[in-house]
Amino acid sequence: MFRQIITILLLALSLQAFAQRDPVVDKYATTITSADLKANLSIIASDAMEGRETGKRGQKMAAAFISFTFQELGLTAPVNGGYYQSVPLYSLGAPDVSLKLGNTVIGADDFAFSGAVETNGEVTMPLIFVGKGSKEEIEKVQVADKAAVLILEGNASMNNNPAIVLLREKGAKAIFTVLPQEEDFLRMVARAKNFSGGRLMLTKPSPQTATAGIFFVSYNTVAKAFNTTVVKLDKAIADKKIDKIKPATAAFSIKQQIAEVKSENVLGYLEGTDKKDEVVVITAHYDHIGISPRAEGDKINNGADDDGSGTVAVLAMAKAFVQAKKEGKGPRRSILFMTVTGEEKGLLGSQFYTDNPVYSLDNTVVNLNIDMIGRSDPQHKTSAPYVYVIGSDKLSSELHTLSENVNKTYHNLVFDYTYNDQNHPDRLYYRSDHWNFAKKNIPIIFYFDGIHEDYHKVSDEVDKIEFDLLTKRTQTVFYTAWEIANRANRVAVDKK
Ligand SMILES: [Zn+2]
Repeated sequence: MFRQIITILLLALSLQAFAQRDPVVDKYATTITSADLKANLSIIASDAMEGRETGKRGQKMAAAFISFTFQELGLTAPVNGGYYQSVPLYSLGAPDVSLKLGNTVIGADDFAFSGAVETNGEVTMPLIFVGKGSKEEIEKVQVADKAAVLILEGNASMNNNPAIVLLREKGAKAIFTVLPQEEDFLRMVARAKNFSGGRLMLTKPSPQTATAGIFFVSYNTVAKAFNTTVVKLDKAIADKKIDKIKPATAAFSIKQQIAEVKSENVLGYLEGTDKKDEVVVITAHYDHIGISPRAEGDKINNGADDDGSGTVAVLAMAKAFVQAKKEGKGPRRSILFMTVTGEEKGLLGSQFYTDNPVYSLDNTVVNLNIDMIGRSDPQHKTSAPYVYVIGSDKLSSELHTLSENVNKTYHNLVFDYTYNDQNHPDRLYYRSDHWNFAKKNIPIIFYFDGIHEDYHKVSDEVDKIEFDLLTKRTQTVFYTAWEIANRANRVAVDKK
């Protein structure tokens, strides 16, 4: 009896450690091929997609390609009969600013403004000269509730510039800076005029009503405002007599323009069998960072790895699961294949989905998220096939064990857990779409290939993708998804 128990225990242990390959799963995993991944990636990451910038034409084309593929596969269109979940986004456009110094209206070519604030109509205040903004200079004049004119030193940076910090501390209401190099000033003006929208947001921004922000003007404009010359202003600085420059007045109004940007998550749903109410969500972001107008030569950020690789992996897995279902081997749990938008802008599409889920989050079992799985990072140039695995043990020890066992049974990739540490300085656990699911207590696994030399560059191209590796990694995610979707018990959450 005792001996029998030992035998059974040993058998159970060995079964767990060396689970048998399931030929049925293998059959469908092998429908995921290099050729297929490459064919789709050559479209998704082609120059024609223009870098798939959120809200722009390339993103729309990529979304259309994905939704057509879902339709062709016969996936259910789960959002009121469509594949798109609209994600409304906002950005601050170029602000509407008018400026008068003394009695002179300053034309749009002669100043620039930077800041996300607006005024309540026109405001008027004394304009005073603070020279180069040294401590003694600023202490010589009263800047509280006034507009200060600051001459910036050679290669002064705007970030945490000590003079600007001090002026704000002393209560200056507005700051007018004069950049020492004329071409820097002209560049600021050109940038302000061509401003095509800033950071994207999920909620409509409400600019603070305040006068903070920075104006950029030329030295000549400033001299004219003070009814003097540049030479005399320079002399006042040299002689430490800036307080002798007679104050003028500044009058300005700032109105922020809020632009709406429309984007979409693309969802395809495969209904399960006896456990269809439970859903496994597989995600990758399909849009990217668009065009870099100032890049030399090639200006298109193709995002072949980031995250074209994840996008085509999702399409390939959808195809494999659909094939299985056609042959009576469909998953017991349902699977939502979702390519999300706005990851690069702050995980916006996945946040929108988890705030507005199409399938209840209570019934969402696991999120498997893929963001870059087509390359090798410098640390793994000579490594056996690997992938960084992040987050698998954070909410469910069962998910972590499952993931390890599935990998050992099939491809036995090197699972690198370097970035799994929540305290790792690169903070990868918080940096892709899975994080929005983890925040809602849904166990996740994030698959990633590392930060490589072409990350967020125009050189992230299809011809640099290692397709054999991409295939093995996609199949590994597929094997894992299959196990999660078909096992008897839902993966349990045992950690918070
Ligand atoms: Zn990415």
